[in-house]
Amino acid sequence: MNQHLRHQPIPFIDTVAQRQRLGQSLDAAVARVLAHCQFLGGPEITQLETELAAFCGAKYAVSCSSGTDALLMVLMAKGIGPGDAVLCPSFTFCATGEAVALTGATPVFVDVLEDTFNIDPASLRRGIATATRLGLKPKAVIPVDLFGQSAQHDLIAAVAEAEGLFVLDDAAQGFGASYKGRRIGTFGLATATSFYPAKPLGCYGDGGAILTDDADLLDKLRSVRAHGGGADRYDNIRLGLTARLDTIQAAVLIEKLKIFEDEIAARNVVADRYTRGLTDVVNVPRLAEGCTSVWAQYTIRLPKGIDRDQFQAALKAQGIPTVIYYPKSMHQQTAYRIFPVADGGLPVSERLSSDVISLPMHAYFDEPTQSRIIEAVRGAVAG
Ligand SMILES: *Cc1c(COP(=O)(O)O)cnc(C)c1O
Repeated sequence: MNQHLRHQPIPFIDTVAQRQRLGQSLDAAVARVLAHCQFLGGPEITQLETELAAFCGAKYAVSCSSGTDALLMVLMAKGIGPGDAVLCPSFTFCATGEAVALTGATPVFVDVLEDTFNIDPASLRRGIATATRLGLKPKAVIPVDLFGQSAQHDLIAAVAEAEGLFVLDDAAQGFGASYKGRRIGTFGLATATSFYPAKPLGCYGDGGAILTDDADLLDKLRSVRAHGGGADRYDNIRLGLTARLDTIQAAVLIEKLKIFEDEIAARNVVADRYTRGLTDVVNVPRLAEGCTSVWAQYTIRLPKGIDRDQFQAALKAQGIPTVIYYPKSMHQQTAYRIFPVADGGLPVSERLSSDVISLPMHAYFDEPTQSRIIEAVRGAVAG
């Protein structure tokens, strides 16, 4: 490879390659909305909701303004509030616990498993006991399908059922993945996902959706989405939000959903190449039994003795971006230190926060570019 190509910057996520592939069809989809002018609640909204539900085998989908609002809307629709505890992993994007805190309920942080980065059922049980001891009412658990891999939903469901909690799956990163042959979107009471541009299924701005089989919840979610409205337009029956998805974003998503299956396959090819190229030098991500991933991130753990800042700088010098998801677990962050953690502490979350690093990941890698990253990682670890 010549010197110029060797140092050409590599994008962390290639939204441009995908845009080029979608080409004219995407222009036309947006142009249709610009022609009919139903910028909110246009026909694309219903079409997208139908297609999202069909994609994952859920009965209903409710589109909304973001993944965070998707989580918040379910909690609001279920009447979660002060005095309630909602269990969630600490090693996640902040929105998981933030949605809980916004309702006035208490997020209780639990630990994750070392190999999958997803919620640890034993820590979940301890967290429920902690919540009860603190005088809180444990109401729900939010497992996260972190980095694109399905959580082990049977194990979580068993604990939730025994303890009378409902399950709200945070699939912001995992939409499209499956567990025991079933797509994410049908586990627990409801599933929230995000269409933030960098997620596996992203739109061209903010967006999200909720999937559920529960007709009563569906009604409440639609009400919460628009100010808590009821049958009488001017008699709002609960507190709600302005949380609709724009029609233009729905039009974009309809086009992207057509190639999503293919992109998931491509992401798995990319992940396999990383794993083959790196398994002997760093801790590569592992899939648990029955779980698939859409590889929202390809996150490795550096071996002991490798300085993460130096490693990151060495890759950056070669035009290779990396990101640390997440340098602080939620319970270590300023806004969330006040909330309880499961008895026994969260040692795995803390360890992960100190040694993980995510490599560029998207569906549009060519093999030479990926080889360049693999060689750079191997070189940086060798020192
Ligand atoms: C991105 C993300 C969210 C929030 O989604 P937004 O659309 O950005 O609000 C929630 N949970 C997890 C795990 C996420 O990665």
